[in-house]
Amino acid sequence: MTTILDLPPDAAAAELGTWLAQRGEPAYRLTQLLPRLWQRPVRRWSDATELPAALRGALDDAWPLPGLEPEAVERSADGTEKLLWRLPDGDAVESVLIPEGARRTLCISSQAGCPLRCAFCATGTMGLHRNLAAWEIAAQVREMALRPESVKPTNVVFMGMGEPLLNWAAVDTALTLLNHPAALGIGARHITVSTVGILPGLAALAKRPEQFRLAVSLHAPTSALRLTLMPIEKRYPLPRVLEAVRVFRRRVTFEYVMIEGVNDREEDLAALARIARPAGALVNLIPLHPGGSATLVPTPARRIAAFAAGLRRRGVEAVARRSRGLDIAAACGQLRVARQEVDGEVAAQPHGGVHQAAGVGRRADHPHT
Ligand code: SF4
Repeated sequence: MTTILDLPPDAAAAELGTWLAQRGEPAYRLTQLLPRLWQRPVRRWSDATELPAALRGALDDAWPLPGLEPEAVERSADGTEKLLWRLPDGDAVESVLIPEGARRTLCISSQAGCPLRCAFCATGTMGLHRNLAAWEIAAQVREMALRPESVKPTNVVFMGMGEPLLNWAAVDTALTLLNHPAALGIGARHITVSTVGILPGLAALAKRPEQFRLAVSLHAPTSALRLTLMPIEKRYPLPRVLEAVRVFRRRVTFEYVMIEGVNDREEDLAALARIARPAGALVNLIPLHPGGSATLVPTPARRIAAFAAGLRRRGVEAVARRSRGLDIAAACGQLRVARQEVDGEVAAQPHGGVHQAAGVGRRADHPHT
């Protein structure tokens, strides 16, 4: 589906400007239309009552605005909210809204399903259904403003379903839509792209001039261990990912889902410190979300705290995250899995089980810098 919402603001302005001129509309109409795409969105042009009725009707015919249908919404006792969006073709993806003080972090999806099959991840069990279009990615934020209890996320993290750097063309445009002041206007430092380390995508992201944040789903400190958890290690081995991170030359976060007896041993701690310290990385330690895997077990909270303290003793900034939304299966993919099971389909977790942690990609216990 090609839609005006798939275009960066400048291109959308050019298209709509030409169309208005062809209709003989005054030029100022453009300044009325554009905010309705992203800044003060409407579900359909007919809702933009500041416009003449005839123009609204013509806009709905010529430039229909697609949307995502909220099929299921679950709220956790801790305030975390999980949304299952139905896409126009019937597929479905998830977002998770994590409120924390004045911060409202929205974890968004970039693919329906994911081809990478990480061992701890429910989404990986689905395989890839398809890439999302740019508008479908950015619309996860747009739709939040269209809900009755209109919410504007302050932070966005690409830690929902899918590997964003395997869908770079759409994610590239979606980053513009999220960040551009004439679109959603979220500061680049408040937008985190999380990746397992897709090297061509990392190179493309590094070329963007904006200071988007980078999180790398590490989950293992050695190639040998990572290979047992993340098949992508075969294609893009850890040493090459670490080299790409070094070239990236921006502060990076290492996401590390803690799995009891698998990657939480003393030797793992020492190995992780050896790679995180020279990279200057902040390490987010995240308890494995129950439900991502039948055989893997979360590391107990006390061990995670000790692991974080051990990293800090070795000169690595490390944060032990809380699990959020445990009562609503808030790891991405889990709501969809649950729905599929109800509907008799096969089942689907997050891009690294990561978005259950609030404030990913920043210092949790310190102000954003
Ligand atoms: S953790 Fe991320 S990359 Fe791995 S299978 Fe899940 S969604 Fe895909």
